Amino acid sequence: MFLPEYAIEAKDLVKTYPATKTTPEMRALKGIDLAIPRGSIFGLLGPNGAGKSTFINTLAGLTKKTSGTVRIWGRDIDERPRDARAAIGVVPQEIAADPFFTPREALEVQAGMYGVPRQERRTDELLAALGLADKAKAYVRQLSGGMKRRLMVAKAMVHNPPVLILDEPTAGVDVELRRQLWNYVLELNRRGVTIVLTTHYLEEAQELCDQIAIINRGQVVACEPTTTLLRRMDTRNVIVTPAEPVAAAPQLEGFETRSRAGGAFAVTYRTGESSVEQVLAAVRASGLHIKDIATEDPDLEDIFLALTYAAPEAAEV
Ligand code: ADP
Repeated sequence: MFLPEYAIEAKDLVKTYPATKTTPEMRALKGIDLAIPRGSIFGLLGPNGAGKSTFINTLAGLTKKTSGTVRIWGRDIDERPRDARAAIGVVPQEIAADPFFTPREALEVQAGMYGVPRQERRTDELLAALGLADKAKAYVRQLSGGMKRRLMVAKAMVHNPPVLILDEPTAGVDVELRRQLWNYVLELNRRGVTIVLTTHYLEEAQELCDQIAIINRGQVVACEPTTTLLRRMDTRNVIVTPAEPVAAAPQLEGFETRSRAGGAFAVTYRTGESSVEQVLAAVRASGLHIKDIATEDPDLEDIFLALTYAAPEAAEV
């Protein structure tokens, strides 16, 4: 069996949405280079509008790229579009299930669309794995939101693809279901399936993903093993408790600030560029009196902010 080093490889991937009567041309992907190792759980993080969905839709063959190359499981999406598409299952952000099918029918129809022969179908296995066995014959419209989402995962897996892509899989999903979904995703990964997911839940990415790419405004700003990303960053937090509690963190020139419980706030600084002294000077200059301070190592959220904060809008091209 052919096993590529990378499940997905994108080189200089560009996507420009053409201008419409009401919107200007939009360069959603500005030359993305990403190599997603086979067998990884790869997190794609970025703020809204960063280009995550555009990237995923390009992989899935739903959006036509402007330029660049993409290989899925070693198959170029221009040269071997069908083979490339057969190698991925995509769980879209929106729930789009036909309300008049039962979950069993939905999976059978999907398998038929992928040309999976009857004897190779895994309908029962998938229904069981996603906790839908007892709903196999209910109409999809009768399922809860969480069940519908699990059905979407099952649909993405009917053709047994080596790569599963999940676009914001746990947005609006309750804690219990999230755990169930992750257990299944982890199980798939143990069986060798490469997982790519986009998420806003930084904690989730930190916990689950072995590699993380951060994209912002159509560009990759970081791509590393999660542990390296966390270690490499030279950011620190200073937690400031002001004499008078503040409702919102003050804006400080050159620093990221976020409010904390009890009227305190965190100031993130880079150790190579400034110091606790400078942070405290900036706090005092803003007119606040300091009651107490503490320092803290960064988590992914701080790194994310530090990396996505830099480029001002004016630098956009
Ligand atoms: P994300 O998934 O990270 O939130 P998207 O890929 O959805 O980001 O969007 C990236 C940029 O492309 C945004 O500025 C968005 O408005 C724009 N965009 C997305 N889809 C379209 C489209 N179909 N037509 C025009 N612009 C789009």
